[in-house]
Amino acid sequence: MDLQQQYELEKLFKTKLHQAMRFYLETCTHCGLCVDSCHVYNSMPELRYTAVGRSEVVRKIFIKYFKMQGKIAPWLGETMEMDEFVLDKFYEAAFSCTGCRRCMVHCPFGIDTQQIMSIAKLLLVGADKEPKILSMLSDMSINKGEQVEESRAQYAEAIKNIEPEVEAIWPTPPGKKTIPLEVEHADVLYVALSGKHSIISAAAIFNAADINWTLSSFEAVNFGAFLGDPQRTKKIGNRIIAEATRLKVKTVAIVECGTAFRIMKQQFGKLPFEVVTFVELIAKYHQEGKIKLNKVMTEKVTYHDPCQIARNAGVYEAPRYILNQLSDDFVDMIPNREENWCCGGGGGLVAAGDFEFRMKSSKVKADQMKKTGATVVATACENCHSQLHDVCGYYNTNQHVEFISHLAAQGLAK
Ligand code: SF4
Ligand code: SF4
Repeated sequence: MDLQQQYELEKLFKTKLHQAMRFYLETCTHCGLCVDSCHVYNSMPELRYTAVGRSEVVRKIFIKYFKMQGKIAPWLGETMEMDEFVLDKFYEAAFSCTGCRRCMVHCPFGIDTQQIMSIAKLLLVGADKEPKILSMLSDMSINKGEQVEESRAQYAEAIKNIEPEVEAIWPTPPGKKTIPLEVEHADVLYVALSGKHSIISAAAIFNAADINWTLSSFEAVNFGAFLGDPQRTKKIGNRIIAEATRLKVKTVAIVECGTAFRIMKQQFGKLPFEVVTFVELIAKYHQEGKIKLNKVMTEKVTYHDPCQIARNAGVYEAPRYILNQLSDDFVDMIPNREENWCCGGGGGLVAAGDFEFRMKSSKVKADQMKKTGATVVATACENCHSQLHDVCGYYNTNQHVEFISHLAAQGLAK
């Protein structure tokens, strides 16, 4: 690596050095209290998979380039020179961390390893060493935002084709569209994913509740966040903000996608609309008497708290409330809520990670799910759903994974 590239990466590192980040980098006492909190370490006990172990190389670079000690006494052993070896270490640390922040809960100083890993990810982007699948998917989302007008008619046609599947679950109220598009002043703008499964159940629930809603032209997932590229993250989120602002909607409901929800809720400052995750709306509609749910579930069901919806955004009770309307046999995983084990697929690992690593690092999750005795694992995040589906197969847990919205749509009653 030449001096110019080192200098460019140092500049990028500096953009991340806000007050909280300096605290995270300067405060670790190596007490080791976070070691057992990481699902990766618990499933594959190697020090490089601990929170403190992952952060070491980032800390050494921080000391070398931004602290007096690194400038005058680099031989003390707590520094490293920015080079290709360091970038490889960054990759290994950042893309084996799901950003679940369970370690943060157990650190006495609240050190956020996910934030420290965001430095590693940003420098990988700067060095053109990021997982290419994530930058490609991010760029596709950005391009779609720029060309949305050209594809609008095609999108409307595709949406029309899935309306019969919505009608099969719940008849559309008279005078309303089954899947409305481009409705100004709608109460809710629903932002789905690219698959129709993320639209059908939600549309049936909105129609059963007789809500004035409209479907977004964009998919919610923010690959820029998985990539750790703040600029792409912003561009992807801004497409939805511009749409919601143009349509003057009151609420933006994000599909069951943890990262999309948390990023929109927490990283775009004050917005002219409310941001909720769709499961919150299902619970609300039921509590307000807008929908009724039957106890249609005959199998024992448990719930996986998605890290970005639960621990990192505080939505714990709405999904449990819905499951308890649908079943008399709900059981919580142990531990749960803030302490729940990550599914093992966050942080972009489902799209970009190595399958064997994803499975092996989720052994603790498989054990936790099996112990519940449930045959249905419900969740409220697409990423968790994909990962847990794979984990169930890999560890033969004899369980199947379901979205809360899908279960709720099946339970809709007159
Ligand atoms: S954020 Fe999650 S995956 Fe990353 S080190 Fe902490 S506990 Fe492990
Ligand atoms: S618990 Fe906090 S202070 Fe202790 S080793 Fe982990 S990150 Fe460092």
